[in-house]
Amino acid sequence: MSLKLEELLEVMEREAKKRNAPVFTLKGFLNDPFQHLIFAVLSSRTRDEVTVKAGKKLFSKANTPEKLAKMDVKEIEELIEGVGFYRVKAKNLKKLAEILVKDYNSNVPLSLEELTKLPGVGRKTANIVLSASNIPTIAVDTHVHRISNRLGLVKTTKPEETEEQLKKIFPKELWNRVNQAFVGFGQTVCKPVKPLCNECPIDWCPRIGLSF
Ligand code: SF4
Repeated sequence: MSLKLEELLEVMEREAKKRNAPVFTLKGFLNDPFQHLIFAVLSSRTRDEVTVKAGKKLFSKANTPEKLAKMDVKEIEELIEGVGFYRVKAKNLKKLAEILVKDYNSNVPLSLEELTKLPGVGRKTANIVLSASNIPTIAVDTHVHRISNRLGLVKTTKPEETEEQLKKIFPKELWNRVNQAFVGFGQTVCKPVKPLCNECPIDWCPRIGLSF
């Protein structure tokens, strides 16, 4: 089964890259756990292109916790305007940076428990940061949740349940590939609305031939 699962990830990655999925093309500028953390916070309820624009503007002024902690909320707001809930996020980002400086010597704590205590950081965001730091985990967003259920890999209603079940199905060495492969595939082929089932190479999908 694990070979088949690896093949599944390869198919998803290939199809996504062929179609220039944003998840594979837009994040190359993220250099360290701090930038991955800030980008992940900015990205919730925001299109990737908008997040990238805001992230680049913000990092041009503040690419470390110290610099971000010294900025005014208003200044952060102006740089990230356009991302969803930017006013709330600006406040959270400043607070988060202050905590990193004060409690973690300006480093990002790489544990789920500590990350999820930071303002504006939920389980998905924390898992994205851990995964980007090569700590095995599966970050479940709407794409991962939706496609796992469509394919019948899991039968769940909540992302946390999906994470738990996927961790039982996929061998640990594949965990860190799951998010990117599923997100890229979800952005380009297995879209939320009108998925491209007639172009999809996953011929065992139980949803083939069904209407959406
Ligand atoms: S056949 Fe359709 S629903 Fe199934 S994985 Fe492919 S695009 Fe998604």
